[in-house]
Amino acid sequence: MDFFGKPATDLKHKKLFLLDMDGTIYNENTLFDGTKEFLSYLKENEIQYVFITNNSSRSVEDYVCKLRTMGIEATKEDFFTSTQASIVYLQDKYKNKKIYVQGTDSLIKELCEGKIHVSTDVEEDIDAVLVGFDTELTSEKLRKTSELLTRKLPFIATNPDLACPVHFGFIPDCGSICQMLTNATGQQPLYIGKPNSLMVDLAMDKFSCNKEETVVVGDRLYTDIATGINSNVTAVCVLSGEAAVDDIVNGNIKPTFTFQSIKEILNELKSSE
Ligand SMILES: [Mg+2]
Repeated sequence: MDFFGKPATDLKHKKLFLLDMDGTIYNENTLFDGTKEFLSYLKENEIQYVFITNNSSRSVEDYVCKLRTMGIEATKEDFFTSTQASIVYLQDKYKNKKIYVQGTDSLIKELCEGKIHVSTDVEEDIDAVLVGFDTELTSEKLRKTSELLTRKLPFIATNPDLACPVHFGFIPDCGSICQMLTNATGQQPLYIGKPNSLMVDLAMDKFSCNKEETVVVGDRLYTDIATGINSNVTAVCVLSGEAAVDDIVNGNIKPTFTFQSIKEILNELKSSE
């Protein structure tokens, strides 16, 4: 049973877990109790999992290193980020076009590796603007992006998150950076990351699983849980991060199941054997 006493035996039939990271399996640099055991259980039972994250300030390689320092062995294949989803989107909709990017060096490197024609200058032949979660943001970058958006070029952004959790609280994330640009230029972005169903659809494709076999687990209602709802897959909310019980009870975004933590999901999987 979940936090609200709802039977959750449905979870034991899942073949693919799409796991959020921050607030779900760890908090910044501290792994949650039960995360290792949860991942081991999935592996032992041949249930696939992939870490899906909206954070576009770090590359997949950065994440492999981060998890390794916390004692979790992972490979590049275990991740699906909003940057990777953006690459798929840009290759589909803006093939061979020039994309101006406002983001970290890490984001730019990954886009280039994904064969996206990237520019960080205001040029005449720019076809679209991509904004990421830029932890290296400067006023100069905002000025350049604003100039291009004033030309009414297509405005794409990696993720709509307003704030990113850090050890003392939160810092402005991509959604907040985009709000500044919207306030200045009147242009609204198309967000690629969660809650856009694209993230889940691409992951299901990659792992050859259908909607019934897939579950999204996360701590944030307007991204993780909304992406599950938008993709029509089971959405599990953990209370170890942003969402509080009151948000679920009083809000419009309702997870399929709610658990205190990843450890409680593991207990549920084990108990329903
Ligand atoms: Mg999270």
